[in-house]
Amino acid sequence: MAIDPADIAICVSEDDTSDWGGSTSPPIVQTSLFAYPTFGALLEALKSEHTHHVYSRGQNPTVEAVERKLAKLERGDACKCFGSGMAAVSGVLMGLLEQGDHVVFVNQTYGPTMQLARHLERFGITHDLVLDLTVEAVEQAIRTNTKLLWFESPGTMTVRVLDLEAMAAMARNRGITTCIDNTWATPLLQKPLTMGIDVALHTASKYLGGHSDIIAGAVVTTAERMEQIFYQTFMLHGGILSPFDAWILHRGIKTLPTRLAQHGSDALTVAEFLRGHSAVARVHHPAFADNPDIVQRHLSGYSGLFSFELRDNSLANVTRVINGLQRFTIGVSWGGVESLVISPHRGTNAEALLRQNIPIGLVRLSIGLEGADLLVEDLDRALASE
Ligand SMILES: *Cc1c(COP(=O)(O)O)cnc(C)c1O
Repeated sequence: MAIDPADIAICVSEDDTSDWGGSTSPPIVQTSLFAYPTFGALLEALKSEHTHHVYSRGQNPTVEAVERKLAKLERGDACKCFGSGMAAVSGVLMGLLEQGDHVVFVNQTYGPTMQLARHLERFGITHDLVLDLTVEAVEQAIRTNTKLLWFESPGTMTVRVLDLEAMAAMARNRGITTCIDNTWATPLLQKPLTMGIDVALHTASKYLGGHSDIIAGAVVTTAERMEQIFYQTFMLHGGILSPFDAWILHRGIKTLPTRLAQHGSDALTVAEFLRGHSAVARVHHPAFADNPDIVQRHLSGYSGLFSFELRDNSLANVTRVINGLQRFTIGVSWGGVESLVISPHRGTNAEALLRQNIPIGLVRLSIGLEGADLLVEDLDRALASE
C-alpha cells in the first residue's frame, strides 16, 4: 500500500489558513449571503459568481476549503462540492450533455446513475451500457453523437478495474469527453486526471467523509469545464453542500490516508480468508483480478469494499449468512468505520442481475476499522453450515 506522502500532507495540513483568524480548522461560515460595501462592488462580483462570495448557493468559504483539498488530491484545477454524490452525477451529466447526445457507461454502474440516464431519455439524451471492458468493445458502442464516456473503476459490485489510460487515449482521438466515478479508490489510490480522464467524480458520503455521517459529492476537472458545470447546473439545480457538512468532510479527509491504509489491509486479510473457504465460490477483489497488470498500473493500493459469491446462492442461504453476522451492520452505503454487509439478491431480480454480470449469490462487504481478526472469526462462524 503506497500512499503518496505528498497526498498525506495535503490531507493533514496544507490549508490556506489566511482567513481563518488563527483557527486550525476552517471557520464554519454559516451565511446565505455576503454583504458588499457599495452597490458597484456587488455588481462587479455578480459578473463572476464562481470567483466571488455573493450567495452560498454559489461559493462559500467553508466549502471552498474542502474543494481546494480535493482539487489538489486529484491533481485537477478546480473542484466543486455538491450536496450528494447524485447531485454531482446530475451536475456533470446535465451540465455537459445536450438534447441529441449519447453516453456510453462502461462497467457495472451505480444503480441511481443508470436510473438518471433512463430519466434523461425524455430529454433526448440516450445511452448504452458496456460490460465488456476492452477498448474495442467500448469503441463498438460509440456512435456519431456520443459525447461522453462514463466509467466506474473499480466498480462497486464485482470490483473490476478498467484500463483508463487506454480508454482516455481512445476518447481523446475521437473528441469525446470522459468522466469517472472514482469513489471506490478515492483520490489517494487512483488519479484518473493524470491518466488523461477529463472529469473525476466522487461521492464523499463514502470514504472521504468516512464516518457515515454526511451525504456529499465532488467533481474535479479543468477550470473551464467547471465553469460550465457551475453556471449550467450547479447554481441552477441548487444541490449544494452546506457549510457544516463541508466542515465535517474537511475533518474526515484529515484522517483519510490512515483510515484507508487500515481498511485496505484488513479487507485484503478478510478477502484472503474467504478465498480459502469451502462455502465461497469466488472472491471479487482487485488483488485477485484477471488483469493484474492494469490493476498495478492504475491503483496504488486497495480500499475496503469487495464482494464474494456463496456456492449455495439461494436467497435463503444469502439471508442466513447475512443474518448470522454479528460484527457487520446490515445496510446500504459503505466506506465508514463500521463494517457493513449487503447483497443485491432480492429473490426476484436474478435476470436483471445477470444482465449486469452480477452473480445472484453475491455478498458485498465494506470492511470497517474493527480489526481483521474479529471480522474473520465472525465470517467463519456465519459461513459454517447449521
Ligand atoms: C453511493 C454512490 C453514489 C451516490 O452518492 P450519494 O452521496 O449517495 O448520492 C455514486 N456512485 C457510487 C459508486 C456510489 O457508491
